[in-house]
Amino acid sequence: MNRKSFLQTLALFSTFGNMMKLNALNKMAASFEDSILMPVLFLGHGSPMNAIEENEFVAGFRAIGKEIPKPNAILCISAHWETKGTFVTAMENPRTIHDFGGFPKALFDVQYPAKGSLELAKETKQLIHKVEVELDDKWGLDHGAWSVIKHLYPEADVPVVQLSIDYTKDAQYHYELGKELSALRRKGVLIIGSGNMVHNLGMIAWDKMNVDDYGFDWALEARAKMKQFIMSHHHKEMIQYQKQGSAFQLAVPTPEHYMPLIYTLAMQGEYEIIRIFNDKSVAGSLTMTSLRIG
Ligand code: ZN
Repeated sequence: MNRKSFLQTLALFSTFGNMMKLNALNKMAASFEDSILMPVLFLGHGSPMNAIEENEFVAGFRAIGKEIPKPNAILCISAHWETKGTFVTAMENPRTIHDFGGFPKALFDVQYPAKGSLELAKETKQLIHKVEVELDDKWGLDHGAWSVIKHLYPEADVPVVQLSIDYTKDAQYHYELGKELSALRRKGVLIIGSGNMVHNLGMIAWDKMNVDDYGFDWALEARAKMKQFIMSHHHKEMIQYQKQGSAFQLAVPTPEHYMPLIYTLAMQGEYEIIRIFNDKSVAGSLTMTSLRIG
């Protein structure tokens, strides 16, 4: 074979290879079209009352909903769905779960009738290799999801799927799982982590509920340090939150409200910028600090 025909053969093979790759890609994108890279959100959800109150945080959620491209569907990782193993909701019409007590009837009356998406549930299951993701037909939308998503999409016209948090796993595990999920960003899927960076319900200053941006010293310290780590792409320090001293230990006494943040940080591309909003402390021991990644 002379050099020219060798090069032609090589070109043919590489075209063939690319076609194969394209076919595989087309199969994956059968249900969700390729799209521009969607941003990722971490939303500090705070009190369930934010679902029905009018305040600056709600205004922040509403503004971010208008700012970003409208997604094909939402995948939400909420602090309020913890399981052994990893599940994804796969029902057509997820129920609105009122997973709280002691709030006014108006909050229990809220229904958020967004559809589910079996396609996205299956695609998520297919995408994740780290663990066998199981399809769930019992959960629905808990308040970690609907109390914030309702402000982004008040018409409930974007399908929502939830992914559970495996409470037996550590932050490193959830970070790696988040990395696998990030491919959904190219399928027009908006990934939302819903929790709180600083979340210590046992230490809430009930008498300071209405004091603007009131945080205990340790809460302010943890919030400042976390933001510093986040803005300088120090993910390792965020994953090793238990090694960051007493302020972090008080800010994250249990992991469930923190893990959604770890998922979203895992999805940050190397050169992607993060914008912080709703960055305030509430009642001493909570922060509403939220992120737009990308
Ligand atoms: Zn919560």
